[in-house]
Amino acid sequence: MKTLSNYVNGEFSAGQSQRTSPVYNPATGEQSAQVALATANETREAVRIADEAFAAWSKTSPLKRARILFKFKALVEENIDELARLISSEHGKVFSDAKGEVTRGLEVVEFACGIPHLQKGEHSMNVGTGVDSYSMMQPLGVCAGISPFNFPAMVPMWMFPIALACGNTFVMKPSEKDPSTPLRLAELLKEAGLPDGVFNVVNGDKEAVDVLLTDERVQAVSFVGSTPIAEYIYATASKHGKRVQALGGAKNHMVIMPDADLDQAVSALMGAAYGSAGERCMAISVAVPVGEDTAQRLREKLVTELDNLTVGPGLVDGPDNDMGPLITREHRDKVAGYIQIGVDEGAELVVDGRRTEVGATGDGYFIGGSLFDHVTPSMRIHSEEIFGPVLAIARVASFDEAVSMINAHEYGNGTAIFTRDGDAARQYCEQIQVGMVGVNVPIPVPMAFHSFGGWKRSLFGPLHMHGPDGVRFYTRMKTITQRWPSGIRDETNHFTMPTM
Ligand code: NAD
Repeated sequence: MKTLSNYVNGEFSAGQSQRTSPVYNPATGEQSAQVALATANETREAVRIADEAFAAWSKTSPLKRARILFKFKALVEENIDELARLISSEHGKVFSDAKGEVTRGLEVVEFACGIPHLQKGEHSMNVGTGVDSYSMMQPLGVCAGISPFNFPAMVPMWMFPIALACGNTFVMKPSEKDPSTPLRLAELLKEAGLPDGVFNVVNGDKEAVDVLLTDERVQAVSFVGSTPIAEYIYATASKHGKRVQALGGAKNHMVIMPDADLDQAVSALMGAAYGSAGERCMAISVAVPVGEDTAQRLREKLVTELDNLTVGPGLVDGPDNDMGPLITREHRDKVAGYIQIGVDEGAELVVDGRRTEVGATGDGYFIGGSLFDHVTPSMRIHSEEIFGPVLAIARVASFDEAVSMINAHEYGNGTAIFTRDGDAARQYCEQIQVGMVGVNVPIPVPMAFHSFGGWKRSLFGPLHMHGPDGVRFYTRMKTITQRWPSGIRDETNHFTMPTM
């Protein structure tokens, strides 16, 4: 059995850990590898290496750092098919979707290539007579990233390209469920010319994570995962004096106004709800049609589309399936359990994905797309994140009722409104308590040069991921106020607050 190890100081290290975790191919249910779970000492060693590498890397010119990232971008592009196959074989998502994920990650690398411009700081002359002020954005030191299973390439790439571009060193702790892609990215970074020790990967679980949250050499922690863990990461790392951004779970609603182009809305909704088997933090899991007539028409169209949804392995000869398997058997069973909860709560199960036939796929973790109607806010299938291909229709009578229902939800990651009415769209953008909003766009994931982040219990910490917030997160500002000889000959003591 292949054992995946850590990547520290530019090489793979077998490590001392006696604990391992299985890595499966979700399309077949077969174990493809095991990953050694780093001990606390191994994690501390990775932090020590990153800390040592910081002195030289932080002094490397931003131009040189950007050139390494340009090379890295080219290497990822050259190897994109291999990376997408790796993602699909451990995560299960279909090949084209896996390629899309790498592309979205690459956009952050492209943004980070602009670091000589982004990290310029500010300068003002003559803030007082003969006095100049300037601010510089300095790197922090060792930064840590902890990522979820659902985007093994993109989410690490939300973090490390900007952190490294800003002059920090990095310890990445990917999901133990699909760790091969971040390890391959580490190799490509080395090939691009990144000095050893600047980027390290530690595979592990809570034992490794707890070192990253408490070790005093770690300056900042970026986390993406479920809300209970995000809250724990935020509280623990903040208590230990670190800067933290911790992105959590989601329940995303799409409002469909009576005037919406329903064909466009349904086509968008199918991809947003069932793409990647619903294992996306920006997946739409609740459709909110306004008015009974809209609801009825929406439901009919969705049922027709669901009939044509193809479910199967992520890697096939010929055209891709619409949707692959779920990540693990336990997760598939959890999603199936939520379908039963919905039925028991009194929601109407219109399409039951548990009955979908997937053909000869061994023991893969498949479940078909499900559709519930007449879901209400008090039901668990509305209040909790299912993270699977289950779409709920929650009917409302008015725009205001839709807004109140969404604003009352504990999560606030993404949302969308489909309408032809500019006023409704504008009101929605203004009133909705959600961090990322789409107008006739179903999954409004901001591009790399904007920042990504939710509100409420979908994000702990003030700064979002990548874009301008990413640069702010991975740098600290120092402001210098200086005056030169003609001004310093003043020999009088001044005891009042200096004013210009
Ligand atoms: P998870 O919270 O189980 O795991 C995330 C990371 O935390 C992994 O690296 C894991 O090893 C680590 N971890 C797990 N338990 C831990 C513990 N007790 N102590 C310390 N570390 C621990 O999440 P997941 O199942 O891998 O990913 C799915 C979740 O991620 C969903 O809730 C989804 O909404 C969320 N997500 C959010 C975003 C976003 O941008 N808001 C993006 C992607 C995924």
